[in-house]
Amino acid sequence: MIEFSNIQKVYPDGTEALKNFSLKVEDGELMTLIGPSGCGKTTTMKMINRLIEPTSGSIYIDDKDINEYNIHELRWNIGYVLQEIALFPHMTIAENIAVVPEMKKWKRKKIRDRGMELLEMVGLDPSTYQKRMPRELSGGQQQRIGVIRALAADPDIILMDEPFSALDPISREQLQKDIRILQKEIKKTIVFVTHDMDEAMAIGDKVCLMKEGQVIQVDTPQQLILNP
Ligand code: ADP
Ligand code: ADP
Repeated sequence: MIEFSNIQKVYPDGTEALKNFSLKVEDGELMTLIGPSGCGKTTTMKMINRLIEPTSGSIYIDDKDINEYNIHELRWNIGYVLQEIALFPHMTIAENIAVVPEMKKWKRKKIRDRGMELLEMVGLDPSTYQKRMPRELSGGQQQRIGVIRALAADPDIILMDEPFSALDPISREQLQKDIRILQKEIKKTIVFVTHDMDEAMAIGDKVCLMKEGQVIQVDTPQQLILNP
């Protein structure tokens, strides 16, 4: 479980990015954060893995303050998928997927098996794809690799910051479906940032509406339709 308790963030130039921000994300839940550009979504995400420190307030993971975790341990347990496709261009697909498992000193066979399992999970034939270079894949396929790379070392938490916004509508819809299926299978806690309401409603177990650094409403998509 991830819990934000009364967070305030003021950047050095005086911008107040978050105020009285409180939110709970339960284990295995996919929470979408939605709101206009500048409402504090990215700031919220980056606080979870301590890339940004709150000015005041606390963040807990499994009831433990994130500052009490060893920072490497914390980050190794969090997969991050970014908007821009960020595969390492000089590594094969298999090597890209293996980066974090190798840092964690997994055995070779375990890494290889995990890579194959993940490629199959997102419908890419391992024998065809594992030796390819990123540039030989379409944008949608590359982003699919970005997603499974974040899952490779089996983190408990996955952060996704507008991961599909650079994609064409068809790849985007396919990946939204993939995420739903993946999440049902792997039961990870996912925080997913988007500024697209349809996307938030399509994939979220819950939707957190944000505005000017504050939470406006947190509900399931069904409840949001009934009480907009
Ligand atoms: P979102 O992801 O919803 O677009 P951000 O979290 O990126 O919002 O930004 C929230 C607010 O904080 C915005 O007003 C933004 O301009 C400001 N901001 C973000 N990063 C910095 C920074 N490093 N220094 C100063 N202001 C920042
Ligand atoms: P540092 O280089 O500061 O020591 P780490 O060794 O903790 O950082 O992590 C290296 C990079 O890999 C960081 O950018 C981190 O966010 C990223 N990372 C760590 N664990 C994972 C994971 N499970 N999935 C994806 N990326 C990860």
